[in-house]
Amino acid sequence: MAKVILIALGGNAIKQSNEKGSSEEQFNNCRKTTKHISEIIKNLDQEDRLIITHGNGPQVGNLMVQQKLSQEVVPAHPMDVVGAMTQGQIGYMLQQTLINHLKKMALDVPVCAIINQVLVDKNDPEFFGDKASKPVGNFLTAEEAKEMKQNNPQYIIKQVKPNGERCWRRTVPSPDPISNLEAEVIKKLVNAGVVVIASGGGGIPVLEDEKGNYQGIEAVIDKDLAGERLAEIVGADIFLILTDVEEAKINYGKDNEKGLGKITFKEAKQYFDEGHFLAGSMGPKVKACLRFLENGGKKAIITSLDNALEALKEQSGTIIEK
Ligand code: ADP
Ligand code: MG
Repeated sequence: MAKVILIALGGNAIKQSNEKGSSEEQFNNCRKTTKHISEIIKNLDQEDRLIITHGNGPQVGNLMVQQKLSQEVVPAHPMDVVGAMTQGQIGYMLQQTLINHLKKMALDVPVCAIINQVLVDKNDPEFFGDKASKPVGNFLTAEEAKEMKQNNPQYIIKQVKPNGERCWRRTVPSPDPISNLEAEVIKKLVNAGVVVIASGGGGIPVLEDEKGNYQGIEAVIDKDLAGERLAEIVGADIFLILTDVEEAKINYGKDNEKGLGKITFKEAKQYFDEGHFLAGSMGPKVKACLRFLENGGKKAIITSLDNALEALKEQSGTIIEK
């Protein structure tokens, strides 16, 4: 039977944490990443479909630094625009490197990255008080944090590390994604056999006003939770989350840490409720997997990029099924 696979690429697929993030570095990473993806495509049947989403945290961070340093000369853009800029950048790099691999393998598969908005709720708890939970941009000293607050009274700046010189960061709301505004066009492209790259960086967060107009907002949607919404649109059977660890672990970071292989929805839910997966990293991945299975998905996988093919054959990774 034909299957639909959604791949969510983590930050390391595009920029390694020890790199500065030059175009050359990012193209090299994308080339490695899309090599794995082209192998997956090679193994698909004619009727199978593939859709890709990706993170953009490091790229947004870098752009914000560039903007800060040049703001006297060129005006800075708000976060929704920065989100769109990085969707364009990463979409371009993935699209080009994937097309090049496919050409070399004589696989005639169209690829297309789209700029993609995701609707959020203006009443989401993340928009109120100091609930905002997603740190963005540079780590700041207490003094820099104070100065940033003075210059931008609307910013929420939080201490994100217990101690050290630079332990403050600007924090923005991370609202839950409700729906994907380009859903219909994505569905059409995927049904037509196009490998679509969408919802990059969790999508550009937008609100809808009383008149039905959409407008961008300064927020960051978790890319795995937004990826799950994308999976719903295309009726994905398999949700493959590729990150920098081979498996999700219980008792993470403790002596009795244990990698999870094949587990049931019920087991995953129990581990999630017990707090084994950290907020902001593995937590939303497992939450997205649970949502995916609740919404009719068949299999959710969390593993590393190198293990993607093995994991699809159930020989590696954390595999969650109902
Ligand atoms: P991505 O860019 O792929 O979304 P994240 O950093 O958000 O990457 O999430 C992956 C990270 O989650 C791992 O590198 C690890 O540090 C962290 N993590 C938190 N809790 C767990 C856990 N229970 N098991 C494995 N990794 C975990
Ligand atoms: Mg993440």
